Amino acid sequence: MKGEILLKNAKLVDGRGEHGQADVLIGEGRILSLSGGEARWVLDVAGMVLSPGFLDPHAHLREPGQEVKEDLQSGLTAAARGGYTDVVSMPNTSPVVDSAEMVRALKKKAAQIGQARLHPAAALTQGQEGKTLSEAKLLREAGAVMLTDDGRTNEDAGVLALGLRYAASWGIPVAVHAEDAGLRRGGVMHEGEVSYRLGLPGNPGYAESARIARDLEVLRYVSEGLAAQPHLHIQHLSTKRGLELVRQARHDGLRVSTEVTPHHLTLTHERLESLNPLYKVAPPLRTQADVEALVEGLLDGSIECIGTDHAPHTADEKELDLLRAPFGIPSLEVCWPLLYTELVEKRGFPLAVLLERFTDGPRRILGLAPIHLEEGAEASLVLWSPDEERPVDPKCFASKARFSPWAGWVLRGWPSLTLVEGRMVYEQGAVQV
Ligand SMILES: [Zn+2]
Repeated sequence: MKGEILLKNAKLVDGRGEHGQADVLIGEGRILSLSGGEARWVLDVAGMVLSPGFLDPHAHLREPGQEVKEDLQSGLTAAARGGYTDVVSMPNTSPVVDSAEMVRALKKKAAQIGQARLHPAAALTQGQEGKTLSEAKLLREAGAVMLTDDGRTNEDAGVLALGLRYAASWGIPVAVHAEDAGLRRGGVMHEGEVSYRLGLPGNPGYAESARIARDLEVLRYVSEGLAAQPHLHIQHLSTKRGLELVRQARHDGLRVSTEVTPHHLTLTHERLESLNPLYKVAPPLRTQADVEALVEGLLDGSIECIGTDHAPHTADEKELDLLRAPFGIPSLEVCWPLLYTELVEKRGFPLAVLLERFTDGPRRILGLAPIHLEEGAEASLVLWSPDEERPVDPKCFASKARFSPWAGWVLRGWPSLTLVEGRMVYEQGAVQV
């Protein structure tokens, strides 16, 4: 058999488990064989792991309108470097992505760039103003994969209820940034002993859980008597209490999914003692007890996927003081090595489960079939090294946001080759010439 790329001695791991070593022959955008063959490029990748490419259900790529922070070219290149073959972009741009024309234009431009594939989310309400619903059917037909007013909160429960109904009939999930605006107020960090000590305005964990409780009741209400089951996706879950509510709702049979970010799994509010705005994010970094609960939820499947909430800003903006700096942490290029190192290597978290939350989990939320490492499977894959150790160096990011709360952290698991349908979109150190 003849193909394009032969990856010899690759260790295969996907969301189902570990499958030993194989000589993986890739061609025509697919895995042609797991038992070798002839190819134009032959790479001996002994010691490296081959996995399905990652899907990020939550990234801010800032195009259109905020290209000074990030654009499709830099954002999708950063994604490919991070091992992502697929990215969902948030619609809180300028203007807001709330029309079929805009969704089509974004998809067309991303296809021309040819890095990670783009799956735009569109606004749930026109202009994300929370008043008039956008056209779910037209947006879905144009290629939008999710409806969300992320960046803002959904204050009107009636609008959310109607949005969930329409979205369900067109088979598209509604995603929410669940924070109660009144409880959150001007909070710049988690409300607790650290915010009290520093005298900074706090954002309590209950701002999140109170809003999740409301949204789950709205979902329960809408689910009654509706033929198509509505799907609510809760973005960037950060609290133990919020997780308990989600778990109960899932137990009751509601279709609610949730994601957790790399920062809420690896950092706590104590970091804010430094007063460094690098750690300013919404929802805020919480307590160690919240981190432990989130890791547990990720393990038992209550949390179905990792979403980066990659939120680039300019260095000038992020260097303002803690009160004035914008919320957000860029993470597309470090997310996999960070969680591989911190969860799998340091805490013994099962590798296949973590991979499931980067691959099958987010694909399921978008209604996409899983990619498993089998003959005939789509060759959207990532090759990464479990042994190569390297510190995080934001100066080398492809993202325009060249800062990171993990700068200097020594990590393993760095991707060295990313393939989208058999095409190399990122290569570093895998091809020896
Ligand atoms: Zn958000």
